[in-house]
Amino acid sequence: MTFQDKVVLITGAAGGIGKETAKSFAAEGAKLALVDLNMDALEKAAQDLNLQKENYLLICADVSKEEQVQQYVKKAKDHFGKIDVFFNNAGVEGKVAPITDYPSDSLDLIIDVNIKGVFYGLKYVLRVMKEQGFGSIINTSSIAGLKGMPNTSAYNASKAAVIALTKTAAIEYAGLGIRVNAVCPALVNTRMMRSLEKEFNPEDSQAAKEFLTKSVPLGRYSEPKDVSEAVLFLASEKASFITGIALEVVGGMTA
Ligand code: NAD
Repeated sequence: MTFQDKVVLITGAAGGIGKETAKSFAAEGAKLALVDLNMDALEKAAQDLNLQKENYLLICADVSKEEQVQQYVKKAKDHFGKIDVFFNNAGVEGKVAPITDYPSDSLDLIIDVNIKGVFYGLKYVLRVMKEQGFGSIINTSSIAGLKGMPNTSAYNASKAAVIALTKTAAIEYAGLGIRVNAVCPALVNTRMMRSLEKEFNPEDSQAAKEFLTKSVPLGRYSEPKDVSEAVLFLASEKASFITGIALEVVGGMTA
């Protein structure tokens, strides 16, 4: 198994992409430290995934709070002794509105979770990986970080920031045996898409889904598994000469 006895730390682990990625890593023999906002949701995820007690640790933390990030990284390291892979994935979507009407509280939340949360995660996990002399990090960006998309300005900016952080971290730590990459998903079939569909068309989510699907050359939403496959590839030895990239999992939307 590709990740036998590797320790994988995942944020946003109770959500659609995080949970599916946890499942994929577990199937490849990994031990998991799973972080999210709510312990009940984490316990349900661990139960759904049928994880063995000795192979996982659940940690309740808000990634936008630096002390809590420091603590979740410490707990994972203390419990398992190392961190081989960090999937820096927690994120929020915020509101859908043009820039002139964009609510400031949504802008603040997006900056706090999607930028500061990813930054703090890098800061504390890289300290551990620096000391151990190995590690692979995958940050979750988005197609929204790659191209202009109307009415989600704050989210788009936050996901572009994730790519900038990825490239910077990749260069800063390349000489220490650490690789840092980003994955850029699009229209993934999770809770976040349900929320975006509602924001796009409050009256008719199905119409929003049909409209959004038309923008995908491959003709469908992606599934969390499409993203987890890309994350496992980037985390694995198969990607040992790949660092500083933003891997698009977008069904042709940027072609
Ligand atoms: P999701 O809502 O199912 O999962 C997000 C998870 O992050 C949730 O479990 C949530 O509780 C957690 N989270 C949110 N704020 C947090 C905080 N402050 N501290 C800790 N955990 C927090 O959505 P998802 O689709 O699985 O999204 C995962 C990542 O993928 C996000 O970064 C998102 O921006 C990104 N993404 C999603 C899509 C999509 O279409 N669904 C597309 C591109 C990128």
